[in-house]
Amino acid sequence: MEELYCQGCGAAIQTEDETKAGFAPKSALQRDEVICKRCFRLKHYNEVQDVDMTADDFLNMLQEIEKHDALIVKVVDLFDVHGSFIHGLNRFVGKNPVVLVANKVDLLPKSINLNKVKKWMYRVAKEFGLKVNDIFFVSATKGIGMQEAAFELERLRDGKDVFVVGSTNVGKSTIINYFIQNSNDEKDVITTSYFPGTTLGFIDIPLDERSSMIDTPGIMNHHQMAHYLNDKDLKTITPKKEVKPKVFQLDEDQTLFIGGLARFDIESAQERLGYVCYFSNEINIHRTKLEKADLLYDQHLGEMLSPPSEEALDNWPEMEERTLKISEDKTDVLFSGLGWITVPNAGVTITAHVPKGVRVILREAII
Ligand code: GDP
Repeated sequence: MEELYCQGCGAAIQTEDETKAGFAPKSALQRDEVICKRCFRLKHYNEVQDVDMTADDFLNMLQEIEKHDALIVKVVDLFDVHGSFIHGLNRFVGKNPVVLVANKVDLLPKSINLNKVKKWMYRVAKEFGLKVNDIFFVSATKGIGMQEAAFELERLRDGKDVFVVGSTNVGKSTIINYFIQNSNDEKDVITTSYFPGTTLGFIDIPLDERSSMIDTPGIMNHHQMAHYLNDKDLKTITPKKEVKPKVFQLDEDQTLFIGGLARFDIESAQERLGYVCYFSNEINIHRTKLEKADLLYDQHLGEMLSPPSEEALDNWPEMEERTLKISEDKTDVLFSGLGWITVPNAGVTITAHVPKGVRVILREAII
């Protein structure tokens, strides 16, 4: 069969996998002008959907971005900042300015100090080699900060195209949809692609006569906790509402299980302290003695200690542990993609257990 390309975004048409670029239902292949489902939704409903791409396609995509004089908007999930960074992006942005849109601010407790979060995010970006011009905090679903961000982006882009990039699930589609609904009165927003035949699946949304916002496919980061979970468990660990802090008074040799997803041992501490946990309100936190923890995990993973739910255990990896000495008062121990625990005092030694590959990060407390 002759290879077909989407008339909208240039992706190679395929009928197998709905989550990948270029998907179209078989019935759509009969039409004169074939477009993929994602472009179809944009054309008829003014709405974009996220699709995944492979690592190779992703590198091609980055190379394409490098060739353009544009503003790069990188969408980051505030609940998974490390997980939502894209490796290698720094090498391809060239001279183009980069701004971060930090999404899901509605999930952070109200008492948060956003200035601290901002400073920390600049540092994380730097660790990934990315120079960031500005950071905007928004909630795409609640509309918080979106108008201000849109206004600033308009100023920063200075008539140029805007590339919107982000790993899957950070809220990139929700953000673009907000912009489409709020800035474009025209029904038919889609034009033919600027990237014909690149098979990358860029979607081009005109901003004015000369420039566009370009929606790019997302990539799944393999160190995201989400990588190991099924849809049901992912729903449980993804906070839907503002996260309520839970305080646990812990002695040396006590441990906390975050469902069965992570474990937090107090190896040594001078005194009993209050440790503040910030996780999705739907995850159960279980306290036990350190000496009982291994047995408890072996016997109760998937039931008392869940998620992971029993169905997800086949795909469940080994746990890895990291022992960390806390050297500053008020330090957050961050479990990438899950949440964090604030250790109140310096001098405590903890061991964090996480599924293989998931990151554990220390940062100055943000609350
Ligand atoms: P994409 O894969 O990056 O395109 O992400 P989506 O736009 O599909 O969003 C992923 C998930 O995050 C969906 O369940 C959204 O409802 C949710 N989401 C997106 N933006 C927000 C937000 O501002 N706050 C909250 N709480 N959830 C959000």
